[in-house]
Amino acid sequence: MTDVWPSEPLVRVPAEGERYWSPVETMPPEDRAQIILRKLRGQVAYAWDRSPFYRRLWSDAGVGPDTLESLADIARFPFVTKDLIRADQEAHQPYGSNLCISPEEIERIYGSSGTTGRPTVFAVSGGDWARIGAAHARIMWSFGVRPSDTVFLGAIFSLYMGSWGAQAGAIALGAASISHGAGVPGQTERAVEFLRTLRPSVFYGTPSYALHLAKVARERGADPASFGFRIMFFSGEPGAGIPATKRRIEETFGAAAIDTGSMAEMAPWMTNAECAERTGMHLWEDVVYTEIVDPETLEPVDDGEGVPVYTHLERTSQPMIRLFSGDLARVTTDPCPCGRTYRRLPDGVYGRVDDMLIVRGVNVYPRAIEDAIGRVPGVGSEYRIVVERPDELDVLLLEVEADDHGMAAVVAESVKLAIGLSPQVTVCPPGSLPTTEFKSRRVTDRRESALEATTRRES
Ligand SMILES: [Zn+2]
Repeated sequence: MTDVWPSEPLVRVPAEGERYWSPVETMPPEDRAQIILRKLRGQVAYAWDRSPFYRRLWSDAGVGPDTLESLADIARFPFVTKDLIRADQEAHQPYGSNLCISPEEIERIYGSSGTTGRPTVFAVSGGDWARIGAAHARIMWSFGVRPSDTVFLGAIFSLYMGSWGAQAGAIALGAASISHGAGVPGQTERAVEFLRTLRPSVFYGTPSYALHLAKVARERGADPASFGFRIMFFSGEPGAGIPATKRRIEETFGAAAIDTGSMAEMAPWMTNAECAERTGMHLWEDVVYTEIVDPETLEPVDDGEGVPVYTHLERTSQPMIRLFSGDLARVTTDPCPCGRTYRRLPDGVYGRVDDMLIVRGVNVYPRAIEDAIGRVPGVGSEYRIVVERPDELDVLLLEVEADDHGMAAVVAESVKLAIGLSPQVTVCPPGSLPTTEFKSRRVTDRRESALEATTRRES
């Protein structure tokens, strides 16, 4: 093994019949830990030398490159948060004090999809972009994409890095890609015509957009299954990890739905990704080292629920070391039939620490409600969740779409079974709830004061 850091991107595309891109995928986890430790030391030493941001943060915490004697020592390093990065960029405009390359070396600039204020700026070097493409290609190989495929990119091409990262993976893998985009009026109608004639084999986008595309296709007399997608991979939303939503997409399109994605701040972000077995997202930890920590004690979790904390292992432009995601996931070391020895998130990323609603003292994840609604045949995929406290008691209100008003009781029963609380369900005519084309905004908590509601979350 070489001690050169970062290593050259691994762009050897395997032969058609090969299952794995790299032997690192199937090695015993304790052997892989040595590779991860070597890369982590390289990343930390590099950030210490080049990033005033980390030098300050770590000096204050009394840690540095010499702290890392074993992989477990990473827990002594402080967390980084989105807010910390944003504040640093405000103070050191435009790129923050964590830019470790000269501005001349920046090749691409992206930004967070935050809806308020200045976006967080992501400045990426050419070398980093090549490594991102190679990592994504390797992970796309694991869920079945091959050089003979054509990938339809049905997601917005903007400051949002998701579409560009998926495209970089497709290119590094040798597949063709169609940069169709999404979010422009009339574009979905054009997509239907395009898909009918070009028949790409792979789709990338958000689950919401795939279901919107299916609706538009049916309105135009096209069966979404006739497009001929074999694989559909998703990021930007947790939907492809929600069993009922995954099933709905797979039945609608006759394709395998693959859940991927970590955070906008992390690229490569497909280092959380399902393989073709679809048993939950693997953690591709030799690219992005991922710890799962208990949200309260912050202790590492080996099996069970916690918050993913991400560390780039080969990023030279803006390293992210111990980025606290604030997401919630369950991790397991149970083996996957694919033979890869990476840990998995069998339920995907199912919520955020700050998205969890406490309704009458019960912890309620919006994802569990979505799954319960999705289990009821004849009910549409759009829904709204509103929590109110008209008097002393919390009320959980649900709006769903169906032809038959009698479905209210069935939905209420399904939700009660899932979360232990009875919602008040309103059935709306199909198509009457606002459709979500990109990222869903489906939960409203009216119990908060207006000030808390506007300052609590950035997007
Ligand atoms: Zn697997």
